[in-house]
Amino acid sequence: MRRAVAIVLAVVLESACGSWKGDVKSVERFVREQTFPEPPTSPDMISPAKNKDLPAISPTFAESLVVNRKVDHVRLTVFDAADAVVPGDTVSSMKSPLSRVKLADPVFLIRHPVQGLILVDTGPGPTPPGRKPRRFVSGPGQDIVSRLRRSGVDPSSIRCVISTHLHYDHAGMIAKFPNARWLVDVREWRAARAAQGVDADYIDLRSLNGRLPEAVDLSTAPSYGLFDHGRDLFGDGTVVLLDLSGHTAGNLGVWLNMDEGPVLITGGAADVWDNYNDLALPEKPREFDVKEYERRLREIHGMEQLLPDLMIIPSHDLSPMRLLERDDVAQAS
Ligand SMILES: [Zn+2]
Repeated sequence: MRRAVAIVLAVVLESACGSWKGDVKSVERFVREQTFPEPPTSPDMISPAKNKDLPAISPTFAESLVVNRKVDHVRLTVFDAADAVVPGDTVSSMKSPLSRVKLADPVFLIRHPVQGLILVDTGPGPTPPGRKPRRFVSGPGQDIVSRLRRSGVDPSSIRCVISTHLHYDHAGMIAKFPNARWLVDVREWRAARAAQGVDADYIDLRSLNGRLPEAVDLSTAPSYGLFDHGRDLFGDGTVVLLDLSGHTAGNLGVWLNMDEGPVLITGGAADVWDNYNDLALPEKPREFDVKEYERRLREIHGMEQLLPDLMIIPSHDLSPMRLLERDDVAQAS
């Protein structure tokens, strides 16, 4: 009966399209193809086949992470220092513009047994007087200084701050850590300088009262896994700075090799899980260099495929932390 219907349909379609020739099987295929055509390729999706141009990775890369780690008991605590609610397509082409997504704004506290307390990013500062509130806002007591104090950590005991980039939601509270060594990619510093008075997403450098960061230049650093450039910050295999530029001119990623496996803090290289897992782009105009940004997503996606125990924490989404149960990584309540 279904075949008879298929033939009738095919004859009808033949008269409409003029392309059916053959037996019952080809009729069924013809009907199927007409009923369920190939979906169009989304221009916002990136082909994983482009992975070919990434650096060659050593077949023993995963083992090298363990062997080269010279210090045990590094711990990571993640603080959510601010929130924002945005239309879904702002962060991922896989989300509907009609949806509303709650974003996190994490700050990372690394407890290193030898190097002490290290922060990655510092969350947004208070909204400057006379300015309308920005997208990410810390609720009462949610800012990183209050959160650290509540966790029993004196902010003045932070030895080093790594800013993934200098957008206000990542570097807004840097002035609260005046005694810490402060690391910023050299290209990021120049971009922030050029953006003063032009791009309100960057922090106001006047608020630093002349303080300068320690500039990080990864341009001559060797590849690290699938990433173009990576440098072991302390020479002990635990904290590696990665060139993940694209979202901004000098976005840094921070790779941690810990007792229970590696962790990748992406900074602005990915906002949410979809970006690197499905290679779905956010709203394009927000990225400094979309081609470079796409390359970072392919690098992160490739590492995710290669290392099943890699915990990836994107810039504004803490849900991927649920994918792996680990005792050496905690989210502060
Ligand atoms: Zn940013």
